[in-house]
Amino acid sequence: PYDVLIVGGGPAGAAAAIYAARKGVSTGVVAERFGGQVLDTMGIENFISVSRTEGPKLVAALEQHVSDYDVDVMNAQRATALSRGDMVEITLANGAVLKSKTVILATGARWREINVPGEQEYRGRGVAYCPHCDGPLFKGKKVAVIGGGNSGVEAAIDLAGIVVHVTLIEFDSELRADAVLQKKLRSMSNVTIITSALTTEVLGNGEKMTGLTYKSRIDDSAHELTIDGVFVQIGLLPNTDWLKGSVALSSRGEIEVDVKGQTSVPGVFAAGDVTTSPYKQIIIAMGEGSKAALSAFDHLIRSSVS
Ligand code: FAD
Repeated sequence: PYDVLIVGGGPAGAAAAIYAARKGVSTGVVAERFGGQVLDTMGIENFISVSRTEGPKLVAALEQHVSDYDVDVMNAQRATALSRGDMVEITLANGAVLKSKTVILATGARWREINVPGEQEYRGRGVAYCPHCDGPLFKGKKVAVIGGGNSGVEAAIDLAGIVVHVTLIEFDSELRADAVLQKKLRSMSNVTIITSALTTEVLGNGEKMTGLTYKSRIDDSAHELTIDGVFVQIGLLPNTDWLKGSVALSSRGEIEVDVKGQTSVPGVFAAGDVTTSPYKQIIIAMGEGSKAALSAFDHLIRSSVS
C-alpha cells in the first residue's frame, strides 16, 4: 500500500505529490490526464513570479519537478470508486484496486459549455471561462458575459472595470445573482443587460472571435453583437460523480473540506478546484495541494496503522 495516494494530476495533485514525497513517504499519483486543465490553457500571466507562461510549458515543468522525487505516477488511469476499510481503497476503470493509508482527492473541475457553433473553434481566441485569468487580455475591448447567476454577474462587474463595454446575456427572464451584485452591476455605466436571450453562435474570422448571435426568447428575433470576447459563466462542474455516496459533497457537488483539506472520511483529504474552497486558480490549487499533503502526513504520524 501507499502512504499517500493522490487522485488527479493537475496543479493540486502535482503539488501534493511533491510535498508528500519530500516527507519520505511512499507516494502515488493516479491521473486520467496529467496536467489537468492547465494543458488546455494558452497564456498564463498570474502564476506569481513567472510573468508569462503557457499551459503545456507549465505542465512539462510540473512533470519534471514531480519526477525529481520517488513518485509512482500512473497516468491515463481513471478512478471510479473510493471505499474505506482498514485502508482507503481506490478502484480504477481497468479493475485494479489501489490501497493507501491516506488519499488526496484532486480531480479538479470543468467549465460548463454553451455548446454552440464556434465555441470550441474560438476557445482561447475570444471564448474564455475565467475572468481572473483572461480579463486583462481584453483591456480596451468589448466583451459579453453569458450567465446571470452570481458568477456571471461578478464576472461582468469585474470585467466592466477593465474593458470598454460588457454585455451580460441571461437565458432566463431575470438575473439570479444576489440583489447586492445586481444593484452594483446596474450602477455601472458601461454594462448592458439582456435577458431572455439564447446564445446561438460564436462568430469569428477564422483567426479570432468577432461577435456572437443570440435569439430573443420573447419574440424569436435574431440579434448580433460585435465583440472581441465572451466569458461563459454558466457553471463549474467538479469531477466528483465517482465519489457520490462515499465522501460528503456540497449541493454543487464539490468535496467539502475543512481548513486542513480534511474531507468527511478519515484519512481522505482533498484539494484544488474539486473542493468547496473558493477561487479556482492554479496557484491556489497548488497551495491547497501542498496543504493537503502536509495534513495527510500529519494524519500518518498520528495514526496507529503501521
Ligand atoms: P485540474 O487542473 O482540473 O486537474 C484535475 C486532474 O484530475 C487531471 O489530471 C484530471 O485528468 C484528473 N482526474 C479527473 N477525474 C479523474 C478520475 N476520476 N480519476 C483520475 N484522475 C482524474 N488558472 C490560473 O491560475 N491562471 C490562468 O491563466 C488560468 N487559465 C485557465 C484557462 C482555461 C482554459 C481553464 C480551463 C482554466 C484556467 N485556469 C487558470 C484555472 C486552472 O487551470 C485551475 O484552477 C487548476 O488547473 C485547478 O487545478 P486542479 O489540480 O485542482 O484540477
